[in-house]
Amino acid sequence: MKILVINCGSSSLKYQLIDSETEQAIAVGLCERIGIDGRLVHTPAGREKLIFDKALPNHEAAVQSVLAALVDKEHGVMESLSEIGAVGHRVVHGGERFTESVIIDDEVIKAITECNDLAPLHNPANLIGIDACRKLMPGVPMVAVFDTAFHQTMPKKAFTYGLPHEYYDKYKIRRYGFHGTSHSYVSKRAAEIAGLALDHSRIIVCHLGNGASVSAVLNGKSVDTSMGLTPLEGLIMGTRSGDIDPAIIEFIAKKEGKSIEEIMNLLNKKSGVYGMSGVSSDFRDLEAAANSGNELAKDATEVFVYRVAKYIGSYAAAMNGVDAIAFTAGLGENDKNIRRRICEYLGFIGVEIDEERNNVRGKEAVISSDSSGVKVLAVPTNEELAIARDTVMLVSNR
Ligand code: AMP
Repeated sequence: MKILVINCGSSSLKYQLIDSETEQAIAVGLCERIGIDGRLVHTPAGREKLIFDKALPNHEAAVQSVLAALVDKEHGVMESLSEIGAVGHRVVHGGERFTESVIIDDEVIKAITECNDLAPLHNPANLIGIDACRKLMPGVPMVAVFDTAFHQTMPKKAFTYGLPHEYYDKYKIRRYGFHGTSHSYVSKRAAEIAGLALDHSRIIVCHLGNGASVSAVLNGKSVDTSMGLTPLEGLIMGTRSGDIDPAIIEFIAKKEGKSIEEIMNLLNKKSGVYGMSGVSSDFRDLEAAANSGNELAKDATEVFVYRVAKYIGSYAAAMNGVDAIAFTAGLGENDKNIRRRICEYLGFIGVEIDEERNNVRGKEAVISSDSSGVKVLAVPTNEELAIARDTVMLVSNR
């Protein structure tokens, strides 16, 4: 079966067409600048990337141009759209309602809409993508896969904030966690590669990309994670501050005469390693700057590394130990220096990195030494494949 995986943002739409038998992507692509002018970058597997400047006034036009590219006579990858067996949609926030992926119907759409308050930038865009696909592919089953769902197994002690209880009752303010599809996929792969029985394992997953989060996965279930009500909490990220003393918000507001909205924008878009260094949110730029003596860039990467190590330490405590630590996403998969520097803090739990094994990029690998007390792995994430798998499972069981 061919599965179309859609990840729809406010002005962009990423897609992959995946063959569920081979689990390979047949085509991948991206619509950008939706509602502005429009651009479609379409790459059929093993062929040249194609760039089309297309008017994309809205998401329906974007989906339409994706479908046209997939069946294009010259650049397409299939004869007819009827070959698409199902569509899997990434949805950022499923609140407490969605603990797993679901087949989309009117009632599910209503429930996702009710979560919009919790992810005002993301959920409405995800819904627009779902709506456009339903219009253009009537009768094709669609599945929603939530970033938050994997973390719904967290116990109360992990998801409760130290706030008056009424805010949980009234507004459901609590830790939700994100990147769930990645944490789920990577923890399963890590158990397989490390030779652990998933239901008897303590795994810490470090999803280190532009957005970054850590999770504690006990016996295959998420029991804690670093992102919270929103993806702002936790690690220091490319442009997001991660954990700060909440009183800083009032302090800056008073000193700089800024509004709450301006400060939230600062914390989301102008902080993290970008704000700390004044150089870049991209670790490749930061490492180059640090190597040429930029002290702020050096400090920014060290603060980042230290924060990740602290979370790993606290999650080892949460699970009474750890069997495996898996690094994933742009940095975790590719940056041997960042992995080594994080692990240098972890000798106290028996972590020992093998320099040669750690010299990998974008590949599954055990990077710890044979004598290491904890298996350490690099595991490329594949959120699209995880979405396609859930989609096939739900559609086949209908
Ligand atoms: P992501 O959000 O998962 O795409 O990750 C983005 C981050 O990963 C950026 O900070 C990049 O610098 C980093 N990254 C991506 N590719 C590489 C690479 N080949 N080597 C080192 N860092 C990389």
